[in-house]
Amino acid sequence: MTQEDVFKKLVAHCKEYGFVFPSSGIYDGLGAVYDYGQNGVELKNNIKRYWWEAMTMLNDNVVGIDAAIFMHPTTWKASGHVDAFNDPLIDNRDSKKRYRADVLIEDLMAKYEEKIEKEVDKAKKRFGESFDEKLFRETNPRILENAQKRNEIHSRFVKALNDNDLIELKQIIVDYEVVCPISGTKNWTDVRQFNLMFATEIGSTSDGATKIYLRPETAQGIFVNFLNVQKTGRMKIPFGIAQIGKAFRNEIVARQFIFRMREFEQMEMQFFVRPGEEMEWFKFWKNFRLKWHKAFGLGDHKYRFHDHDKLAHYANAATDIEFEMPFGFKEVEGIHSRTDFDLVQHEKYSGKNIKYFDPELNESYTPYVVETSIGVDRTFLSIMAASYEEQQLEGGDSRVVLHLPFELSPVKVAVFPLVKKDGLPQKAEEVVKLLKFDFKVVYDEKDSVGKRYRRQDAIGTPFCVTIDHQTLEDDTVTIRHRDTMQQERLKIGDLYAIVNEAVSMKNLLGKIVI
Ligand code: ATP
Repeated sequence: MTQEDVFKKLVAHCKEYGFVFPSSGIYDGLGAVYDYGQNGVELKNNIKRYWWEAMTMLNDNVVGIDAAIFMHPTTWKASGHVDAFNDPLIDNRDSKKRYRADVLIEDLMAKYEEKIEKEVDKAKKRFGESFDEKLFRETNPRILENAQKRNEIHSRFVKALNDNDLIELKQIIVDYEVVCPISGTKNWTDVRQFNLMFATEIGSTSDGATKIYLRPETAQGIFVNFLNVQKTGRMKIPFGIAQIGKAFRNEIVARQFIFRMREFEQMEMQFFVRPGEEMEWFKFWKNFRLKWHKAFGLGDHKYRFHDHDKLAHYANAATDIEFEMPFGFKEVEGIHSRTDFDLVQHEKYSGKNIKYFDPELNESYTPYVVETSIGVDRTFLSIMAASYEEQQLEGGDSRVVLHLPFELSPVKVAVFPLVKKDGLPQKAEEVVKLLKFDFKVVYDEKDSVGKRYRRQDAIGTPFCVTIDHQTLEDDTVTIRHRDTMQQERLKIGDLYAIVNEAVSMKNLLGKIVI
């Protein structure tokens, strides 16, 4: 199965099992807008809880806020979003499809990188143990040729982005004969800038409505509250403010499911530090955040850092944490050292003093900021993609199983009476009652137990507990484990401790601080 097929199956699975639905599906959906279903919302809430606890509980100098989506319009003037929150877009005249020019070029570079990796893989197989990968990469003519092309494109690309040179961006696409994946032609328009902010109006038109924006990032809600939190929380630098909330971007290209949405959710933290200490904290947060991701146990090799090709004019360091999605390594989180840009801008536009008095240094200054910014939806997608497996079982049977980290599974325990009579449903209800105050539990009595197992496997439930006639005699049940499908018999009284140990958020949090 190709990666594309796997991805299609994953999207279908998300819909079939109540994880993600296209928004307003009865009207054929709305581009790049999605709704989370009964299982999706549980998984999403668990991701958010893990992030929130990791940031605000493991770090005693990080506190949270929940700012409004609507903000005073000057906020976006000050932050630079009104003038410069643009993507370079390009159209193919034949297919009438619109693309981000930068993404077309990034994909082009990725193709050369793929060619190189394929060449290395082939040689690895051919030469076996004696293979000297480093030497091969340095000397193989095909690799060198592809690396040279990739590097040529890369340096032109970085220069064009830094110079904001839209003509050169198009020229790269022309020179390397990039074709539209739909029409297969090279009939491109010029590259234009497109502002990604959604605008609406506040107040009724008769009393003079004001144009306002749906926030394209949550960060500005933190910057404008910097002093409120610092003063009321008596926070001392260094400290951080964390926030989870919706953000909106009128993305040019609506593809790849919940990877690129027009309404999405971010989990952001701004960490305020002394000027000059930002690089140290940048390193600290890179390390902390990567550990947060790796704790899921989806495979350490699926993550990598990717330093930005173009630094925003206010940033002095920026990197992405990328995850290997079915469509390649893609950004799930950005970590940026934003200097004092935002606070200085808000000071300038608001006319208010937004400085911090440092009692240790006995001086006032505008703090520098290191930010960590992660998309809930992209994290959701990365976890789903890495967890989804179609398994062939012995005896010709098969199952779809989601190997979700237990801590994140939408349902922790499914309770089944073996049959719908003889007092077994009543006994099963008792077991449900025992667990439901602490865990998300479902009760299911329909169909064969085998079919009930499959339903739970498909949504990633770690444990299924079956109540049978023996239960009535000795208070024992069978517990069946999702990944191994092993079953064991144990006392009802032992259930709570087993489930609790397996699904506790403490497991994930513990992996970050060790
Ligand atoms: P991209 O280059 O892919 O458009 P970005 O660099 O603009 O992303 P940031 O502004 O750094 O993204 O936003 C931080 C995080 O928010 C991203 O790492 C991503 O997880 C998430 N995010 C950004 N845009 C979207 C979107 N349109 N849909 C879903 N998540 C998004």
